[in-house]
Amino acid sequence: MTTANLHNQYPSIAEFIAEHRWKACFYPGAWESAEREIPVFEPATGERLASVGIASAAEVARAGLRARQAQPAWAATPFDQRAAILREAARLLQQEAESFIEWNIRECGGARFKAEWELNICVEQLQMAAAMPMQANGELFPSSMPGRTNIWRRVPMGVVAVISPWNFPLLLSLRSIAPALALGNAVLLKPSEFSSVTGGLLLARLFELAGVPQGVFQVLPGLAETGSALVSDPCVKMVAFTGSTAVGRRIAETCGGLLKRCSLELGGNNALIVCPDADLDAASSSGAWGSFLHQGQICMQAGRHIVHRSVVAAYTEKLKDRAERLACGNPFTEAVQLGPLINAQQRDRVHGLVQDAVHQGATLVTGGEYKELCYRPTVLIGVTPDMPVFKDEIFGPVAPIVVYDDIEEALALVNASPYGLAVAIHTGNATRGYEWAGRIHSGMVHVNDQTVNNEFQVPFGGMGASGYGGRYGGPANFDEFTERQWVSLTSDPIQYPF
Ligand code: NAD
Repeated sequence: MTTANLHNQYPSIAEFIAEHRWKACFYPGAWESAEREIPVFEPATGERLASVGIASAAEVARAGLRARQAQPAWAATPFDQRAAILREAARLLQQEAESFIEWNIRECGGARFKAEWELNICVEQLQMAAAMPMQANGELFPSSMPGRTNIWRRVPMGVVAVISPWNFPLLLSLRSIAPALALGNAVLLKPSEFSSVTGGLLLARLFELAGVPQGVFQVLPGLAETGSALVSDPCVKMVAFTGSTAVGRRIAETCGGLLKRCSLELGGNNALIVCPDADLDAASSSGAWGSFLHQGQICMQAGRHIVHRSVVAAYTEKLKDRAERLACGNPFTEAVQLGPLINAQQRDRVHGLVQDAVHQGATLVTGGEYKELCYRPTVLIGVTPDMPVFKDEIFGPVAPIVVYDDIEEALALVNASPYGLAVAIHTGNATRGYEWAGRIHSGMVHVNDQTVNNEFQVPFGGMGASGYGGRYGGPANFDEFTERQWVSLTSDPIQYPF
């Protein structure tokens, strides 16, 4: 069936979803069925919601060739037409918001407010990307050669592979796809196997209906082998990866060997410092939001609370109260702040970290228990910096508290982590907070706020084990998804000595 027929037959994404058109299908530029499939389960109930086709290594290779062929015409498409397609995608996303939100809640287990926030910011992301093609695309430089004009301009990377995780599946796919398309690249998306619909096939349908030409945007669901086939595919010139540090390191090694551009947004173990002069209501609110939002399954989760000895008792009590007020359940059928963890493996990992801390002498203030995949928000005191619950990324609703006596000690604890994604400092003296931020090895530092912050007009990214310096958002997107080219023009050919 051709794309045009599909468009006529299923005018709305909601109907398309209801028909489960992608059952064991994937989207290499048109809907195709695959030999193998991934089942899509709802974490809150265990119900099987759909199945999605796995793109094999051979299909990845074909998709790469198709994208390489389609990309030059897309890059040559007048800027206002590319902008119009992105605006149409934004309009459709808004129009079909409820379908996207529902899928996000059911497939990934997030609370409704989280899915709504994600949807809204994705609409903004598309609108911002739609403004990119009309921006100035280069500069003129002087020349020492008479009659020569030096032009420095941006050219697309070509084919960009986007590999994304499941925790914010729409956002973390779109933050790369939208600017990459806007700047004339073709995109091959590999969503997480735990969010193949929300972070993958819904987007395929969205861009198909918005009018992105065939082959320019393709979705290739699958497991690690599909991702690794994409990374080494010769047609792919850049990999934009968001996910764990372990997988990012492997991808960077392959890209290094092949001399491909590689943008990495990886894991984190983010600190929240509470100073003696902090507003403890605000600090504990930051602590609860930073640690428990989306069950703690966020790269910027506050996984280390570093609290001054003089306020630790009061801070712990307030954090405990906030934790105990949170309801955990099925976010699709109940009004809860926390849904289930993504799977049993993740729940057992989180529980293992908590139990290990308690065995090593930490005290459980609240939480530490679960029902099915719902893990109660947990606060631990008496934690020491050598415990895995403090050193490792938790990715669960756990707030380990470590005590400090001197700010130098607190800063040293923050900087002892190989990760460098987000840090928050609560202090009565914001100017000193700003000075301390300059001494912290972290891509993002928030004074009198919490760690989970994302604004698309501001470049976002981590340092060290959280990513090696690339940035998404605002002006950084131009650098991230284009290459620079020097073109010189001379009207009269230059004569050289020989
Ligand atoms: P993950 O690394 O397990 O998987 C991420 C993606 O990589 C998935 O699509 C997966 O299928 C794919 N993949 C796995 N092995 C691969 C391989 N060998 N080659 C190519 N692709 C491969 O991560 P996850 O569990 O989906 O997500 C959680 C992790 O992501 C956490 O560590 C979290 O901190 C991190 N994260 C980082 C950010 C950020 O912006 N820094 C945002 C969200 C999540």
